[in-house]
Amino acid sequence: MRGYWWRPSQNRPPETEKETDVTTPIFIDHSQVGAHIDTLARFGAFGETGVRRLVYSPEWVAAMDQCRRWAEQADLDVSTDAVGNLWARIPGKDPGRSVVTGSHIDSQRSGGRYDGALGAIGGILALGALKAQAGTPIRTLEALVLCEEEGSRFPTAGFWGSRAIIGKISADDPAQVLSYEGETIADAMRSVGLDPSGIPSARRDDIEAFIELHIEQGPVLEDAGLSVAIVDAITGVAQFEVTLTGEQNHAGAFPMDLRRDPMAGFAEIAGCVIDHAHRLGRPAVTTVGRCDVDPGASAIIPRSVRFSIDARHPDPEARIRLYAVHDALIREVAQRRGLDVNIRKMIDLEPCKSDPGVLDALRSGAERQGIATLTMPSGAGHDTQQMSLICKTAMVFVRSAGGRSHTLEELSSVSDCTNGIRVVAEALRQLAY
Ligand SMILES: [Zn+2]
Repeated sequence: MRGYWWRPSQNRPPETEKETDVTTPIFIDHSQVGAHIDTLARFGAFGETGVRRLVYSPEWVAAMDQCRRWAEQADLDVSTDAVGNLWARIPGKDPGRSVVTGSHIDSQRSGGRYDGALGAIGGILALGALKAQAGTPIRTLEALVLCEEEGSRFPTAGFWGSRAIIGKISADDPAQVLSYEGETIADAMRSVGLDPSGIPSARRDDIEAFIELHIEQGPVLEDAGLSVAIVDAITGVAQFEVTLTGEQNHAGAFPMDLRRDPMAGFAEIAGCVIDHAHRLGRPAVTTVGRCDVDPGASAIIPRSVRFSIDARHPDPEARIRLYAVHDALIREVAQRRGLDVNIRKMIDLEPCKSDPGVLDALRSGAERQGIATLTMPSGAGHDTQQMSLICKTAMVFVRSAGGRSHTLEELSSVSDCTNGIRVVAEALRQLAY
């Protein structure tokens, strides 16, 4: 879809109070988008531009209260579930399964003001605009502000909000999940007036579709000169721990041709697996990010080298082929160099494909709004992966300046953020009206 980004975009206020003409694009007020982002960033403001808003902290409570006020001002029906997720809805004429949009409100310990917040704010603004400009939907629409995604206060509580919705929090978790300071998540919940024993009631089985608006957190959109991407898959990831074992000897006395040097094997393997992903091109990625050398001394040929390989691809078959090539490379090098090899798979997560119908709604929504998009996979994990276990899903990305995220310098322009919300609003209209 590249090539017509200069086409004038169709974002103008409605001429009448309730313009129900489906050919008129939904109007999103960019000054409100900018003001909401700035306001939310005050709760847990960190450094000049960043945010540190950990789940169930006073800042988090204040930010949730603010979202509730915005939802009430937008004339949405607001409720909170047992883990503290906020739901803001427009009841449909046909009380069936809901169409939902949203994202998380917690941040990294030293994070930016857009990660998660954009989709949480965007959902409320999109529903407010739809209610005012398109009236009552057929299907129930819901904006969702998820309580926790990052695991930044409780390292094993990642996706706490979406896991509650899909029923993936076990009865033991509240008492066993500990913060970095040793506090249980059950105590943290009680401190903000939530009852951990009620968690099972947060489960939902009546959601038809979920759309998550999020910043890209990478450089692809900026590189393409576009503001919005439609996400067709969240990448699958595997992490391997590889150990090469040779023979520890003197670095001066042992001739090169008689060595069994695991460092030489490691160097060749690291170069080959990284090159392979590079030659495959986007979206394949392979990273060797850690390496431990034993014993690790200047004058000793090492005994062993243990290193990590993290390899990702959003296509299930391509992902398996990528790992097979890596595996064959490792074994061939080890055998040729007389090294013992041990490969352990530490993490293995399947890719999450977006739903074709939701993708269609997003593409035609972007077209109606006159916003050029590209289609790309997400290299990072998101709540959408959890939600995909109970409903149809897709994501929308907004350009990140410099591709930067999980830093105080995170930045997306108000006009890019507004474009993302416009695409989501239009897709919601298509799915719910
Ligand atoms: Zn996020």
